Amino acid sequence: MNILIAEPKNFSVKALERLSALGQITCRATDQKMIRQALSEYDVIWVRLGLTVRATDISASTRCRYIITATTGLNHLDLDALNMAGIEVLSLQGHTAFLESITATAEHTIGLLLALLRNIPAAHKSVLQGQWDRDLFKGHEVSSKTIGIIGYGRLGKIVAFYCTALRMRVLIYDPYVSKVAEGCNLLQSLDELLDSVDYITIHVPLNEETEGFFDDRFFSMIRQGTYFINTSRGELIDEAVLLSALESGRLAGAALDVICSEEFFSWKNPLVRYAEKHDNLLLTPHIGGCTWESMSKCEVFMAEMLLRRLAKQ
Ligand code: NAD
Repeated sequence: MNILIAEPKNFSVKALERLSALGQITCRATDQKMIRQALSEYDVIWVRLGLTVRATDISASTRCRYIITATTGLNHLDLDALNMAGIEVLSLQGHTAFLESITATAEHTIGLLLALLRNIPAAHKSVLQGQWDRDLFKGHEVSSKTIGIIGYGRLGKIVAFYCTALRMRVLIYDPYVSKVAEGCNLLQSLDELLDSVDYITIHVPLNEETEGFFDDRFFSMIRQGTYFINTSRGELIDEAVLLSALESGRLAGAALDVICSEEFFSWKNPLVRYAEKHDNLLLTPHIGGCTWESMSKCEVFMAEMLLRRLAKQ
């Protein structure tokens, strides 16, 4: 079996050891343009979020049988096209018990919230420019404030737990759950949540129902001066509307780990242009899940999943 690790930077050594039982492993940084060719050369291709596999990459000479991705979001893969071509996708989606131990994105969500509220990136930049002036960076606390968590799945739950530890009042909106942890309040209406919170963080999947969900109506319903965090997916949000809400002051600040069409990112992106001139928009390049600990654990888990899958054949 020929296995390609197409985004091999810092790939878990333990996972490689597990995979070596299956055959020949090639660790080669693969350009998006090379994916079509790779599909015809390898039985297994392992991607992260830097590569997409679309219908146009599949051809008559495709031999690949498995695409492995140690992610829960799968919008970098055209699942219908892969299914039609008989290529199975192995991912972390649905592996709830294992995923409960993966806290990286929830930790980053709290990191972004605190960085935004305490002006940490701007304060750091000013020190590097030779200034030592605390009065420029008077921030806000989280203690006793109300946070609205939209989506109470794996990450929403961990974030809620951290927020209660930070002494915040936690309101949850998730139409698909009926029970939340002690110390949190589940609301039946999104409008009610938007009317009551100082901070909002979203933890919903990207799908047909949620794409563009955070739109004009959503941002017009939030309280003046709300802060907004998104570590889920960029396409959930109408970014033009978010920028207008920042410009008008309706949003006091936002921190985004994810943006629309990340594969076509350029410094000309309007979010980047805004953030260059304003400290109340923080952007990180989809680093939520990107820790040594979580990536290594997930890669080993996925390698073992492939071994179990092949053992069943
Ligand atoms: P999950 O499936 O465990 O939970 C999602 C929750 O959203 C579910 O409880 C579901 O009921 C709820 N939901 C669905 N539609 C909703 C709606 N319209 N309104 C309110 N709630 C709704 O997912 P998760 O593992 O917690 O992941 C959450 C998001 O984080 C996903 O978009 C995922 O792609 C993203 N993510 C990002 C990173 C990163 O590096 N930034 C890493 C992992 C996951």
